Amino acid sequence: MKIIMLGAPGAGKGTQAKMIAEKYCIPHISTGDIFRANIKNGTELGKKAKEFMDKGLLVPDELTCDLVVDRIAKDDCKNGFILDGFPRTIPQAEALDAALVKNNEKMDYAIDVDVPDENIVNRMGGRRACLNCGATYHVVFNPTKVEGKCDNCGSDTVLRDDDKPETVQNRLKVYHDQTQPLIEYYNKQNILKSVDGTQSMDKVFSDITAILGE
Ligand code: ADP
Ligand code: ADP
Ligand code: ZN
Repeated sequence: MKIIMLGAPGAGKGTQAKMIAEKYCIPHISTGDIFRANIKNGTELGKKAKEFMDKGLLVPDELTCDLVVDRIAKDDCKNGFILDGFPRTIPQAEALDAALVKNNEKMDYAIDVDVPDENIVNRMGGRRACLNCGATYHVVFNPTKVEGKCDNCGSDTVLRDDDKPETVQNRLKVYHDQTQPLIEYYNKQNILKSVDGTQSMDKVFSDITAILGE
């Protein structure tokens, strides 16, 4: 099963993608997580990506497409994978399709987690991330057991630099300009499914599993 998660920043793509990956035993591939790991490790890619991320801009396609195409060619992706945060532009979607077509493959589902901008601002303001293991929490909707400490690994949880209110507005604009057109792109391919992302995490998940099957 090859799945794409679509949706605005903060819509809950990552939260759902982790649960889907676990249930269907497929790898969860988050370009944001890959970039953050590179930033943490001080790689060249990390240095370049950070400049864009901190401004709420997209990392250029040249730095992003090959990374994903190489990742999905790995052995653990043989039975499928879930992409979270990729593609985010039409050229990225085309690069993904071109890579799959070479092996006579295609994506199976593009799931749009639909959340209006008003809700997004609260979601991102309350999001706390563990930069050590990638776990995500919310101060109100999904708090850690011990305040400020990751449930998984005990590291500090932080407000991501790009989740500060001034950057969130930029990211929403970038989403509407560059990423939202993908909804029509996948609708035309007949693989688009939409879920109401304003519901509780569990309800969103059960709507998604109803689409994907048991
Ligand atoms: P969110 O989960 O809030 O949408 P992500 O972790 O997916 O955020 O991404 C954080 C940032 O990383 C983005 O704002 C962007 O700068 C960069 N990024 C992640 N994925 C991509 C991508 N596919 N193309 C370009 N930039 C990306
Ligand atoms: P994305 O990957 O789309 O940027 P996340 O999965 O990181 O989004 O979720 C953004 C924030 O909203 C996180 O703090 C997360 O805990 C919280 N969140 C996710 N899904 C829901 C939901 N259904 N209801 C309330 N809060 C949610
Ligand atoms: Zn952690």
